[in-house]
Order: sequence, then C-alpha cells, then structure tokens
Amino acid sequence: MGERILLVEDEEKLARMVELELKYEGYAVEKAPDGRRGLERALSGEFDLVLLDIMLPQMSGMEVLRRLRRESQVPVIMLTARDGVVDKVSGLDSGADDYVTKPFAIEELLARIRAALRNRGDGGGRELLTAGELAMDVERHRVTVRGQEVELTKKEFDLLRCLLENKGRVLTREALLDSVWGFDFVGETNSVDVYIRFLRSKLDDAFNIKLIHTVRGVGYVIREE
Ligand code: CA
Repeated sequence: MGERILLVEDEEKLARMVELELKYEGYAVEKAPDGRRGLERALSGEFDLVLLDIMLPQMSGMEVLRRLRRESQVPVIMLTARDGVVDKVSGLDSGADDYVTKPFAIEELLARIRAALRNRGDGGGRELLTAGELAMDVERHRVTVRGQEVELTKKEFDLLRCLLENKGRVLTREALLDSVWGFDFVGETNSVDVYIRFLRSKLDDAFNIKLIHTVRGVGYVIREE
C-alpha cells in the first residue's frame, strides 16, 4: 500500500486531476473540500503527507496549518496562487515543508511530494536494510541503489528483504521458499531461482554490482563487496 496523502482543495476539477495522478503513482488519496474538514482529517494522524490549498472556504489554509502544527509534524506542501509571495513566506514560517505555485506541472508536484516524504521523520527509527550501495526502506517499500530507485514486484521485494535480513548467511532454496512463499506454496523450488534471476537483472546487472551470490548446491547469500 502506498503512502496516504490528504488533499485539501476546494477547486473540484483540480482536486480530481491531482487525485487521479497521485493514485496512478500508487498513493492512497483522500480529498477534503474545505479548511475545517481538512484540519479535522489532517489531525486524524492517518496521513503521511498533506497537500494544502491556501484559499479555502470555512478556514484558510494558513489557519489550518497553524492549528495542525500545534499537534502534528506531518509533512505539508502548500498549494499557493500565482505570485503569492507573501503566502509562500508566511507558509514556510508557519511550518509548511514546501510549496508549489499554481498552476503547477504534475511532475513538479510529484517531485516535491517524493522529497517531502523522503525528508519526513529522518532518524525516526524506521527500518532500513542495507548492503553495499543498496538500501531498502521496509516501511515504505522502497529499494534504492546509489540513491536511484529500483522497481520491484512484491515477491522480488520479499525475497530481497529475506536475503538482506540474513546478510552474510547462506539461505537454502527451501528456507527462502518457506519465508517468502509460505507453507502453502505449491510448485517447484526453482521458483526461487527464477526470482533470483529477476533480482539479479534489476540489481546486479543493472548497476554492475555483485550482491547476490550463488553457493553451489546450497542456496543464495547477499554479501557486501
Ligand atoms: Ca482554493
């Protein structure tokens, strides 16, 4: 499941467009059409990030932000009107993490969202598994090599996670099958080999690193170079 984003925006057409784009990127999105509702939802603690329009009915975005910040450090990106220089300054003063000026290119908004989510709660005790230049953020389901994101399927991710958690230890195919596919698995143990091949092509080959090693007749191990 992707990160959850609250979109507080009263312009329905814009809100729908942004919602579609965010969902397409894998985020879960909830919309709030006015400031009061937006604040109430933002305070629920259910969201990883809030997109907050400034000109809102019932309560302005600035007021929402001020009240939200008394209780929550959830990342907030303000959506400001063109030339709203004053808005930008006071938004950042009030604890916004970033702002995007309307009309914005969706790519720009997506980049700001990714950055804000990356910076969120640094050192907040989230689980990070590493091997050499590879890093896996378990909670956010993200894998990077040299900072570059690698797209993995769920099975590939689970397999890599299992290997990383046992870094330096050789795991047999059976052990990998058990922990990644589970006991209800029906099929051949060479599924492991198939998925190891997928991982190697996305990691070792793509980045020219030697991460996943075969131990002949036994299984697989991740070793740091
Ligand atoms: Ca508005």
